Amino acid sequence: MRLTVLGAGPAYTDRRDSTGASYLVEEDGTHLLLDLGQGSFPRIFPHVPPQDVDAIVVSHLHPDHFIDLVPLRHYLRYHLEPARRVRVLAPTALGERLDCLHAQPGFTAEALDVEVLGTRDHHIGALTVRGALVAHTDESYAMRVSAAEGAPGLVYSGDCGRADDLAPLARAGDTLLVEVSFGEGPVPPGAMHLNGDGVGRLAAATRPGRVLLTHLQMGHDVEATLASVRAAYDGPVEFVWPGSAFDL
Ligand SMILES: [Zn+2]
Repeated sequence: MRLTVLGAGPAYTDRRDSTGASYLVEEDGTHLLLDLGQGSFPRIFPHVPPQDVDAIVVSHLHPDHFIDLVPLRHYLRYHLEPARRVRVLAPTALGERLDCLHAQPGFTAEALDVEVLGTRDHHIGALTVRGALVAHTDESYAMRVSAAEGAPGLVYSGDCGRADDLAPLARAGDTLLVEVSFGEGPVPPGAMHLNGDGVGRLAAATRPGRVLLTHLQMGHDVEATLASVRAAYDGPVEFVWPGSAFDL
């Protein structure tokens, strides 16, 4: 199973070349995208024609995790002859959200086959995806992607306000791709995101094979964030950026 980072940015940033959250997972000819944030659509092309993506899994309905479904929808409908469709697994009402954005009922359904992600297993080609509800919006999912029973998997936090919500998905040896929005700093009251301390404690409890940090908000320091994770966790940890790739 191979992970390629298309985008690892937060909702807004001054970091040059930042792209919204999007991660490509590939296994034996299966192509799965986790989220499709701002600017990520063109980054699909070097890896796979977007129409050949087997499914896109959307963690939650904040635009920095799904807004590039709009250019994808246009591309599928207007650029290809005949038009193509792509499967999307998402929280309830993704379709209505995109339809509202365009003030056009049926806008989404013209190119995207949307299903509710929920918390059951979905078999997508050579990969299996399981969602778990996490504290963030009313319906936010983390997810575990795996290629084979017993093999190390990938746990992706989406946006998550309580690190303990990720523990039921994580198995020892998995790769933990986790948001660290508030970096080295405290998480302000009511902000449903994680910081380095929370991630470090989670990793110490669940023993992943490695920790990949993402979604760092503007104004937080990379090295200080790494140090705050390492204060609680002694395993491998690094930030990911567009173009980062890993064989899991
Ligand atoms: Zn969010």
